[in-house]
Amino acid sequence: MRYLSTRGQTPALGFSDAVATGLAPDGGLFLPETLPDFSGKLKEFEGLSYPGLCFEFLRVFATDIPADILRGIVAKSYQTFSDPAIAPLRRLTRDVQVLELFHGPTLAFKDFALQLLGNLYEYQCRMRGESINVLGATSGDTGAAAIHGLLGKPGAAIFILYPDGRVSPLQERQMACTGAENVFALAVEGTFDDAQAAMKEVFGDQEFRRRHRLSAVNSINLARVLAQCVYYLHAWLRLSGAERAEAEFVVPTGNFGNVLAGWMLQQMAVPIRGFKIATNQNDILYRLFTTGEYRVRDVAPSLAPSMDIQVASNFERFLYYLVGRDSARVRSVMAEFRQTGRYEFKDWDRGRFSASHCADVEIPGIIRRVHRDHGYIVDPHTACAFRDLTPGRPSVVLATASPAKFPETIQTAIGVSPTHPSLEALKSRAVRKFFVRAEPAAIKAFIAAHAV
Ligand SMILES: *Cc1c(COP(=O)(O)O)cnc(C)c1O
Repeated sequence: MRYLSTRGQTPALGFSDAVATGLAPDGGLFLPETLPDFSGKLKEFEGLSYPGLCFEFLRVFATDIPADILRGIVAKSYQTFSDPAIAPLRRLTRDVQVLELFHGPTLAFKDFALQLLGNLYEYQCRMRGESINVLGATSGDTGAAAIHGLLGKPGAAIFILYPDGRVSPLQERQMACTGAENVFALAVEGTFDDAQAAMKEVFGDQEFRRRHRLSAVNSINLARVLAQCVYYLHAWLRLSGAERAEAEFVVPTGNFGNVLAGWMLQQMAVPIRGFKIATNQNDILYRLFTTGEYRVRDVAPSLAPSMDIQVASNFERFLYYLVGRDSARVRSVMAEFRQTGRYEFKDWDRGRFSASHCADVEIPGIIRRVHRDHGYIVDPHTACAFRDLTPGRPSVVLATASPAKFPETIQTAIGVSPTHPSLEALKSRAVRKFFVRAEPAAIKAFIAAHAV
């Protein structure tokens, strides 16, 4: 299988090269040249374990990795999950089930993709006899998940910039208390935007980038989308016959990454009825799917911070199919959007999506209601998805983080503070963080001194 850029100006690459490249050089995102049709395989997929299913799914895409090696990479990626089902489905009522995606090492759904991506990077380093240095900037969850994907891997080091004092104490501990020698949590003075701007400048220095084989952590890697397709498939296969035809997946999403994976799977002939996009108050996707207007606004920090985004970068993948895989159209839409901050879709086929948005003030009340009605605690991101479930319709709500990651919000809502053994264990560990000025020269000097 080969991979094309949504913007059509990058030669097709194999799976491993597309994963290693991340963002295509023409600014586009990689997608498979053709989408496989899984309808004939669904019967044989039933009953497979999570890693078994993940392997069968990914082998269709990762055709340049020998099957036995891919099987090993997948097994290793989900061994770090604490629940034997990996992505357990819990029933709350006849109609409502929760797909728990927070049993990975950092207790949020990003582990599904970043555990796999870390092991793919490790394999590539070994094959090529090269080392890799990964650099990213984070406002919280992604940095922690990326760090846990590369923790202790030979031939790899990871540098994560974050705004000092502006990530939660738990998030900082997940990055700075790993005890691993190849992990560098870099606290910078300033905001997330300062950290990100400095990082972009470091990546802009091509010579430095090549010398240290510097790679980016970002939300648009092809492997992330493909890894996320698997939990939808695993859940769908566990629904009853009637539910399979009727169920809607309700998905907390910010960058459009989470819900895009489900939609891609639907395009591969898995007959999922539809999706509800659940945003927080930063609701560019809600506005797009209800009015057709894609318009940037300022980000207002919320209680569901991992969905605080301005632009939904993975939307470009949906756009590519929307305009009939016409990459010249993708380029012109993205150019207009970049110049004017808006684009209006007229008479468009918005697919089987519905959308909801959730104001910040509503979140504690929703957490309280779900707890009262079902004895179940949801985190603030998942709470957004519980805002308005369609009555009478079977719903599978994706729970993207453990409530234990947001003890203050849960405490406000229901008067108890959930804990988790892995977070408790962090409290007794030494913090290993490095203070760096948010300037490209200082960051480069740090990387040069610690790179592998
Ligand atoms: C990242 C994140 C999301 C949003 O995921 P997208 O890829 O932006 O759709 C939702 N919930 C949690 C807890 C997250 O960490």
